[in-house]
Amino acid sequence: MRSAFSRHAALYRGGPSLVECFASTVRGVATMPPRMAPASMAVAAAQPTHQEIEEFAAAPTNSTIPTHDEFWRKIPVWKDVPVEDFLSYAWGIKHTVQGEGKLAHFLEQVLPDQVPMDDVTDSGNKAGIQTREELVADVIDGIKTATMSTRMTPYILSRINWSNPRNDPVFRQFIPVKSRMLPDHPKLMLDSLDEHADSPVSGLVHRYTDKALFLPTSVCPTYCMFCTRSYAVGADTDSVKKAPMKPTKRRWEEALGYVESQPGLHDIVVSGGDAYYLQPEQLAYIGKRLLAMPNIRRFRFASKGLAVAPARFLDDKDAWFQALTFVAEKAKAAGKAMALHTHFNHPNEFSWVSEQAARRLWDAGVLVRNQTVLMRGINDDTATMSTLIRTLADNNIFPYYIYQCDMVEKVEHLRTPLQTILDLEAQIRGSIAGFMMPQFVVDLPGGGGKRLACSHMSYDRTTGVSKFVAPAVTGRDKANKVYEYYDPVDSVVTANGRD
Ligand code: SF4
Repeated sequence: MRSAFSRHAALYRGGPSLVECFASTVRGVATMPPRMAPASMAVAAAQPTHQEIEEFAAAPTNSTIPTHDEFWRKIPVWKDVPVEDFLSYAWGIKHTVQGEGKLAHFLEQVLPDQVPMDDVTDSGNKAGIQTREELVADVIDGIKTATMSTRMTPYILSRINWSNPRNDPVFRQFIPVKSRMLPDHPKLMLDSLDEHADSPVSGLVHRYTDKALFLPTSVCPTYCMFCTRSYAVGADTDSVKKAPMKPTKRRWEEALGYVESQPGLHDIVVSGGDAYYLQPEQLAYIGKRLLAMPNIRRFRFASKGLAVAPARFLDDKDAWFQALTFVAEKAKAAGKAMALHTHFNHPNEFSWVSEQAARRLWDAGVLVRNQTVLMRGINDDTATMSTLIRTLADNNIFPYYIYQCDMVEKVEHLRTPLQTILDLEAQIRGSIAGFMMPQFVVDLPGGGGKRLACSHMSYDRTTGVSKFVAPAVTGRDKANKVYEYYDPVDSVVTANGRD
């Protein structure tokens, strides 16, 4: 396996690395065009001529993002970081900010003396200001309350507007602020989708007839406050002792052996955690194992990497991209489908780096789909969600799902009532081609699987309770089961005029 993969990886090498090309263009030395996709170059039998390269570089681009905006230099501690370092995956790993102490230290360096309070005062805050020290203390209190540990890549930290972080849609997803949090709805749970109950072996969730979810790891490049798998993913927190999915051969073989033994299984999601935290050899191994199973027709690797650490797709010193394209080519040769599922939640997460990474995946023939989580004060308005969907589409990333935020603990302040997702779907449908229109879904609490939000059998707006059925999901005791989603408490109180 390794030698075949190494041969494949070698196809992408030779000549200047992609990072060197970007560095040259940032410095104004036109040695290689920024839009050149090295995967295409590598796959082509002949190297393009210098004239072809120049013509390619001169071609107009539809991009609305400045190609060589060195946005990370706005962060004081990274003001001297050259593009070569910023595009290096090893540099990104080394400078990832992880845990309470490191995050507090980072915040002390990056926050202004005074920080504006929330524009949306849904947690009772009065508009005004907070000092740097007050916000740092507020974040530490948030970390002590949250179910997810903190870890953020330099890329995603660089996408935050640090002059007004409390109102920034990226900051709000990853950094818990105690004064923004709301008391949990009594129905919120750690494992709200009841994945444990649908796991015949450790790290393998078999809920649908033909599809299963394989969790080879429980580590991610960045931890999201709203993670549906907060019972397992990331380090222990003050409030949660995790049930980690360790990447051990014994556990993997048990899960893959189960997949192999089920003739009705045709489709596997390889998630976690995040497939970005699998070693390239591990990624290639899982891909080859699945491709060798006659019952498996398609699978996807789930990774937030494209949204939070896109430079890895451009860094030829790291072999993850090569491993992914190696599996994609093997899948193509076998007449099977492999895709990458990623996770953008807001247009601000895009930059020229993610554009180039998406372009490289497209050129390499890797199908990329996106799953977005709907969150209050982040992407719950039509303009933001429309822009996100269009940006994804323009980067050949297929908008697949918009999820109603799961009913997991400590995310009450991020949840929206069901009405919000219904309104968004109604407003946006028709604004873009149908095949680029995502499905607006609720992942039913208790394990009913994903259902279109608009397919609810009832929705009582006075109690905030919506009910769904899932006739095709019949495992365990699920036949004829009715699943309930509960709107956030404060939205129900407000709707009833009792606020
Ligand atoms: S990347 Fe996915 S699995 Fe990891 S913390 Fe975020 S939502 Fe959870």
